[in-house]
Formats: sequence, structure tokens, C-alpha cells
Amino acid sequence: MAHPITPRFCASCGGALISTKGLSLGGAPYCCTSCGLPVYEDPKVAAAVVVDTKQGVLLLRRAQRDRAYGKWILPGGHVDRGEVVPEAAQREVAEETGLEVELTGLLGVYSYPGYPWVLVVYTASANGGHLKASAEALEMQAFAPEELPWDELGYESTAQALRDYLAQLS
Ligand SMILES: [Zn+2]
Repeated sequence: MAHPITPRFCASCGGALISTKGLSLGGAPYCCTSCGLPVYEDPKVAAAVVVDTKQGVLLLRRAQRDRAYGKWILPGGHVDRGEVVPEAAQREVAEETGLEVELTGLLGVYSYPGYPWVLVVYTASANGGHLKASAEALEMQAFAPEELPWDELGYESTAQALRDYLAQLS
């Protein structure tokens, strides 16, 4: 998956950016034609949670109209700059499912070649709150391990995290 946005202007002086491909200017993929600032594209950090309820693992059916629309994903979302990652994970679960969760461990860190995200996945148990799907989900369901919808998962990372989770259970 390509980066969705190609940066065009310098955040410092507003000058036009050019790709440094083939210019051997070092590691930055772009540089400003006006002030010379090297411009890097950092990965975006996201956090997601495998919430084990008594009924199974909680998944959301994605309502945002992108390539994962209608597919099942873990509750989660972007980590804000300066935010503590486990707290971001708990915040996203609360926003998307209504549940307060206690994180029980780090399941894994998932990244893929050419993919702009680094996904940090925790395991958690529900601690309080009431299940209520946000508008970002078409529906929400807890799946027992043998009922997980492997053919309808939103992302490779969703499948990988669930495989890792099941391996941890056995
Ligand atoms: Zn500049």
C-alpha cells in the first residue's frame, strides 16, 4: 500500500518540495527547493486491542468507506503525538466499544513493507462500561475462537494478531 499523501510543500517555509530519488542527498525522501530542509515521512503509530470478553474476542465491522469497509477489525486507532501508547489503546477501545478495559499484555508489534502504519496490539479484559458501538462500526460482535471470521477480516495485521492471540491461548 502506497502512502496516501505525497507531501508537496515545506512545513517550515512553504517552498515546493522535490523528491530526492536519484539525487543522493542522504536519507530524506523529499527536500525543500527553497530552504533545503530534508523532509522525512515517519510511520504512523496505531494501537489496537484484543479484548477477551466471556463471549469471545470483540471485533467491529468497519463503517468507514475504504478498502476494509464492512470487514471485521480490532478496536483501535491512531496514537496522538505525545500520548502514552497503552493509554491510547484504552481510549480507542472506550470510544469504539463503550468498554473500559484493563490491558493484560503486549501481544505484538505489526508492520509490513511499504505500509505506512506500525500497529501495536495489546490483550485486555473488560473492566467496566457498557457495550455500545460507535458510528465507526456497522456492528460489533464477540467471537469464540472457533467462530472467528477469518475470510472477512479487514487487514493482514488483524489476522496476524488473532493468530498470535490464539497461539498464546494454547
Ligand atoms: Zn523550506
